[in-house]
Amino acid sequence: MSDLTVELTAPNGRKYTQPTGLFINNEWVKGKKGDKITSINPTDESEICAVHAAEAEDVDAAVAAARKAFKGEWRDMASTERGNLMYKLSALVEEHKETLATIETWDNGKPYQVALNEDLAEVAGALKYYAGYADKIHGQVIDTTPAKLAYTIREPLGVCGQIIPWNYPLAMAAWKLGPALACGNTIVLKAAEQTPLSILYFANLIKEAGFPPGVVNILNGHGRVAGAAIASHLDVDKIAFTGSTATGREIMKMAAINMKNITLETGGKSPLLVFEDADLDQAVKWAHIGIMSNMGQICTATSRILVQESVYDSFIEQFKKHMQATSTVGNPFEDATFQGPQVTKAQYERVLSYIEAGKAEGASLAAGGEPYKNANGKGFFIAPTIFTDVKDSMRIFKEEVFGPFVVISSFKTEEEAVERANNTTYGLGSAVFTQNITKAHRVARKIEAGMVWINSSNDSDFRIPFGGVKQSGIGRELGEAGLEAYTNKKAVHVNLGTVL
Ligand code: ADP
Repeated sequence: MSDLTVELTAPNGRKYTQPTGLFINNEWVKGKKGDKITSINPTDESEICAVHAAEAEDVDAAVAAARKAFKGEWRDMASTERGNLMYKLSALVEEHKETLATIETWDNGKPYQVALNEDLAEVAGALKYYAGYADKIHGQVIDTTPAKLAYTIREPLGVCGQIIPWNYPLAMAAWKLGPALACGNTIVLKAAEQTPLSILYFANLIKEAGFPPGVVNILNGHGRVAGAAIASHLDVDKIAFTGSTATGREIMKMAAINMKNITLETGGKSPLLVFEDADLDQAVKWAHIGIMSNMGQICTATSRILVQESVYDSFIEQFKKHMQATSTVGNPFEDATFQGPQVTKAQYERVLSYIEAGKAEGASLAAGGEPYKNANGKGFFIAPTIFTDVKDSMRIFKEEVFGPFVVISSFKTEEEAVERANNTTYGLGSAVFTQNITKAHRVARKIEAGMVWINSSNDSDFRIPFGGVKQSGIGRELGEAGLEAYTNKKAVHVNLGTVL
């Protein structure tokens, strides 16, 4: 056991024991082939520690443990008892939130205050929300004729593979674990290789909460190895994935091998429309949060801002001013920091390459457009960047950048605004700013997206369905809708009198 933990002191002075193994059947084990992932602190590029990376054989072991648990004690556990374990897990997250937020900030680069007050609140909140559902998942009695009694049972799907991204590591895990556990499934969850640490600390809390062995198995591993092994595993019944559209497409193909049930939450290039009758000050502030929070690494980031011609220049001027006053870039452990580093060098370089593309395509660079250099010159920081006069044909208007990078363009009419908002292969989030209530709802209905915010942006909530249309995904997470993805409806027909 001792060689599967390491004692660490985080940059904020917090000391804790970091597990480094694979969590299978409530035990810590080594990867069978000894492959490791080294986690890097994006703030100063130093190595934090190395953890075991699962290979296909390890995935087999995790799936076998999950299958055994599904067939055993877990299936027969009273639903209220299942909910109680989830309440306990939520309470443990609350108790350990400072350590979990510390790990999240160290490994991911997100501001500590955000990790603590937003991410961890969401983790504890989502687990508690779904705990309440555990004993409220009912079938129906369906009336046909007096000779038949028909009813449905909402059964768990079985072993669920859950593949999560690096932008909100623990929150994405909670979004997936909550409904899956409430419905009585068992799980093999793979964290992203860029942020492997917090989920391992969380795994210990699962055991401490009292979940039976094998109900939740947690692996780190490379996407193309461990992720692919889960997605193509013949004994996995469902795959839930959050990540890029390209990977989502791959996963969908692999999942076809045994016709897995799938939910995918993928990329976006979400529009934010500002009409001339909007409260401009509020539009500016929400638009800033909508793209610049979490270093722009949000799949629903409202990264394409379309502003009506008459207020275009004043919007840009106010947006720049607000950004300069608010987007303090720096050490994510400092309270004043709004924007930490991008998660990895690869993401940092990706954002820089889009800055070059924007310049080459002839858009106007209104702010940023360069790396932000920390005091010691290290870290993956990017100055928050605004491009204006952006045309629909430009790559920076069409492609997801996933950074503190916004494009702003002007429109003349409502019709044009809607058409250009929908001129994308994506359909995840969207936002509309207007004081005209009729226009707000009219536009909300016409936008091709899974979510529309009217006079706000990205204030998602675990009680409200979340997901996309078009190439932004399949299915919904969160809210009551999130449960749909984790049960089958079995129909039972009882013959009450049809005699042959
Ligand atoms: P990004 O491009 O932002 O790193 P990805 O969509 O590639 O995002 O990764 C999201 C998650 O999907 C991660 O857990 C990653 O390991 C996993 N993943 C990546 N490629 C594959 C793949 N081919 N099969 C299964 N999982 C994958």
